[in-house]
Amino acid sequence: MDVYGLIGNPVEHSLSPPMHEAGYDALGIDARYVTFEPAASAAAAAVDGAAALGVAGLNVTIPFKRDVLAAVDADPLAERIGAVNTVAFPEDGPPRGYNTDAAGVTRAFEAHDVVLDGTEAVVVGAGGAGRAAAFALADAGATVHVANRTASRAVDLAAAVPDATGGGLDELETHLPEADVLVNATSVGMEADETPVPASLLHADLAVLDAVYTPIETRLLRDAAAAGATTVEGAWMLLYQGVAAFERWTDREAPVAAMNTALRERLE
Ligand code: NAP
Repeated sequence: MDVYGLIGNPVEHSLSPPMHEAGYDALGIDARYVTFEPAASAAAAAVDGAAALGVAGLNVTIPFKRDVLAAVDADPLAERIGAVNTVAFPEDGPPRGYNTDAAGVTRAFEAHDVVLDGTEAVVVGAGGAGRAAAFALADAGATVHVANRTASRAVDLAAAVPDATGGGLDELETHLPEADVLVNATSVGMEADETPVPASLLHADLAVLDAVYTPIETRLLRDAAAAGATTVEGAWMLLYQGVAAFERWTDREAPVAAMNTALRERLE
């Protein structure tokens, strides 16, 4: 039996175990997916330990996504984003690090028939999810503007992303009227019924992805739907980052429907 896992802290409420195990079951793969909470300073030791124990693949979440970079041979996208959320353990060579949050963003839009190439995109947030979204959208052919509460973080991120610009949340007013795509990559909307984007700036020509997935329908998505925009729930990003990791590890096409059902059963 293969063992896959997730390192993070906290991870007890993670939806990844049921999502991945539904995938193994659907394809008849003899594997289990378990969670680990290493000490805050033990990211590299956890990766080395997993390699020594023959763990087949690891996901990585807060607070380890950046620290794990030092313990793996990171692929160029993960290197540019500055964060690893998926580790593979090839038989010959060191652990390999990937970032599938970026694929989570692009595949979530793709699943909603949103074409990103040639669009004007606005990413709100410049943390881990914001970085993944900004690079993913730029690589898909969008021109990206990053807006963040701490403007300097948005400016720094934009400097690393091709053709991107960055600034404070006040710049949403300038960029959103012309935008085709909007991603909320802040945590606003998770704890309370709040949104980082004034409803008055949303319009029918926007496709809006909210990375927040609890609740499933955030205030931003409600406001976007009311404005006639296309809405993409964060659960789709969560699903497709998992699908991309599953495919990386197993080299097989993931059973997306089975994984989605397992996820949705726990989110509804
Ligand atoms: P992070 O690295 O801690 O970044 C947090 C971001 O939110 C920063 O840009 C921060 O701005 C901003 N922020 C926090 N509180 C704010 C407030 N009150 N007003 C305005 N901005 C605020 O976190 P992360 O890992 O990027 O995660 C962000 C969200 O994405 C979380 O809700 C997480 O669950 C979600 N996420 C979802 C997926 C998925 O698959 N659906 C994947 C990854 C993350 P400052 O820079 O000014 O602090």
